[in-house]
Amino acid sequence: MPQYRFGCDSCGSDVLVWCMREERTLPRDCGTCGKPMRQLAPSRIHLNCDRLDFVTADITGVPVRIQTKAQLNKLCEANGVRRVSSDEVGQNKRKSIEDIARASGVGDLKSDCERTAQALGVPLTLPTDPAEWKKVVKRTIELLTAGA
Ligand SMILES: [Zn+2]
Repeated sequence: MPQYRFGCDSCGSDVLVWCMREERTLPRDCGTCGKPMRQLAPSRIHLNCDRLDFVTADITGVPVRIQTKAQLNKLCEANGVRRVSSDEVGQNKRKSIEDIARASGVGDLKSDCERTAQALGVPLTLPTDPAEWKKVVKRTIELLTAGA
């Protein structure tokens, strides 16, 4: 059911009302002064209006009635919820692999190898001599699997 906004020209009050599309033309009296109200342009709903009226479970996990933008912002902030516009919803917010690696403190493969070799006390580059090569590989495997 859509929400329509009705205003009173006599006292200036306005209200948001959930009603069927067909019901929005029915006569509606002002709750403040009793004079007939008229429907306001929908575009005004989002302008200079702190008043909202909806129920959402998206912020806290339990249904909460939201009546002002200030309340909504406060509740979002308190629960670590960031509100996004419909434009942002479609955007890909995924981080790049480099960003994730940087954030997690994991280096690239080369620096990981360097660090591991240094920690194990084995040379980073393997010797060209086949016998030496075998020794270093054997030792590296032993060191890497020692705790396993
Ligand atoms: Zn009124």
